[in-house]
Amino acid sequence: MYSNAGIEATEVIGMADEKKNDIPEKGAVVQRDRETYAIAPDTPAGVVSPDTLRKIADVSEKYGAAAIKITSAQRMVIVGLKEEDIDSAWNDLEMSPGAAIGLCVRSVKICPGTTFCKRGIADSLGLGLALHGEYHGMNLPAKFKIGVSGCPNCCGESWVKDLGFFGFKKGFKVVVGGEAGKKPRIAQELTYVESIDDAKKVARSVFDYYTANAKPKERIGDFIDRIGFEEFTKGVL
Ligand code: SF4
Repeated sequence: MYSNAGIEATEVIGMADEKKNDIPEKGAVVQRDRETYAIAPDTPAGVVSPDTLRKIADVSEKYGAAAIKITSAQRMVIVGLKEEDIDSAWNDLEMSPGAAIGLCVRSVKICPGTTFCKRGIADSLGLGLALHGEYHGMNLPAKFKIGVSGCPNCCGESWVKDLGFFGFKKGFKVVVGGEAGKKPRIAQELTYVESIDDAKKVARSVFDYYTANAKPKERIGDFIDRIGFEEFTKGVL
C-alpha cells in the first residue's frame, strides 16, 4: 500500500505549495500533473490553412509539447508546455488564444454546411464565423457554448448547446438552453430567422436578456427553467 512514511512533513507542504494553477491572462490551462500547461490557439470552426497547421506543429515541437489535442470545441490544443515557455510559444504562434476557460462565450462549434458538406442546405460556416467574430470571449453570467449546423443532422451539436442554430432552405431555426454535461438538457425552439444578420440580432437579444436577469454562474438552461420558457421568450423576442 502507498504510504507517505519517510517523507518529512515540511517536504509534503513544500510540494503542495508548488502546485500550479491556470493562468487565464496567458490563456494557459494547468494540466493534470499540476506542473505543465496547455494553450489553445483560436481556430474558428477548426478550419485552418496548411501554414497554420504547420505553425502549430512547429511550435509544439520547438517547446517539447507532450501532444496536440484536437478538442470537441474544434481547437488544436498544445499540451504539456513549461510555464517559462508560454510567452515565447504565443509569440511564435502569432495567433490569439481561444476562450477555453472563464464565464464567457467559450466556443462556437460549426459544421461545414454548404461550404464543404454535400448534405448542407445553409451557410453554417458563414453564420458560425460571424457569431464567432462578434461574440467569442464575450463575458456572460456563466460559460456559454454555441452550435451551428447546416442542416437538421446537427453535426454542430446545436441541440445540446446553450444557443444553437439549424440551417433550412430559407434560414435558420434557433434553439436555446441545451447542455451536455452533468445535467443534460435538450434545447428548446425559440424562433426562425431568415438571414445571418437576423440570427446575430437574436443572439444579441438572448445575451442581453440573459446577462440582465440571470444569477451569477447560472447556465442559460437553468435560468430558463427558473423563470419559465414563455417568460424567457417574451423577454428575448
Ligand atoms: S449538419 Fe448537415 S450540413 Fe452540417 S456537416 Fe452535418 S450533414 Fe453536413
